Amino acid sequence: MFIGHYGIALAAKRADKNIPLGLLFFATQFADILFFLLILLGIESMSFAPGITDVSPLDFTYYPYSHSLAASVFWAGLFCIFFKIVPLKSDSNKNKIALIVGAVALSHFLLDLIVHRADLPLFGGGSYKIGLGLWNYVFASSFIELLIFFAGLWIYLKSTKGVSIAGRYGMVIFSAFVTIMWLTSLLAPTPSEFNIIGFVVFGLVFQLLVIGTVSWLDRERT
Ligand SMILES: [Zn+2]
Repeated sequence: MFIGHYGIALAAKRADKNIPLGLLFFATQFADILFFLLILLGIESMSFAPGITDVSPLDFTYYPYSHSLAASVFWAGLFCIFFKIVPLKSDSNKNKIALIVGAVALSHFLLDLIVHRADLPLFGGGSYKIGLGLWNYVFASSFIELLIFFAGLWIYLKSTKGVSIAGRYGMVIFSAFVTIMWLTSLLAPTPSEFNIIGFVVFGLVFQLLVIGTVSWLDRERT
């Protein structure tokens, strides 16, 4: 999933406004950021396999450390423990924040589970892999993805208020931009050749830019 993950982070802001939106975006996308880094290090892998699902031509061949159920629970637990120890602000509720950030990190696996074919390992690289395969149904998976994203956006915009021009209009412009990016990834013809490393570097830079942008826009809202 792509922008659906962002919807979870946007909605989670409502649960505790002390949590910076940039942190929630980092938590929701942590699995993919880690996956990209581990590909660059040669530890995890994916290949290009046009037609493997109707939506995504990517074959996630080996990603136990970033995307297995066991790893997802482990990383979510680590997020939880970290924010239980380190307070975000002196007057913030550490336990609540730890739970929210941990849950947002774990949501990545649950959303991926809906769309991926059965390529998500339960643990290790292993033979037990799961995935509901909604990426084989373009309209259904697009509907779910847009629904989660726009529901999250609506909740975020309803529960915060812009204090500047950037704060008032920025998030809507940003949302339109990422929706166009998502649509482009969906409608663009499948290339005959595919540069995995180029894709991964682009993905990494894109995610970091997204986190930077929402961190800035979130500070312009109260
Ligand atoms: Zn993922």
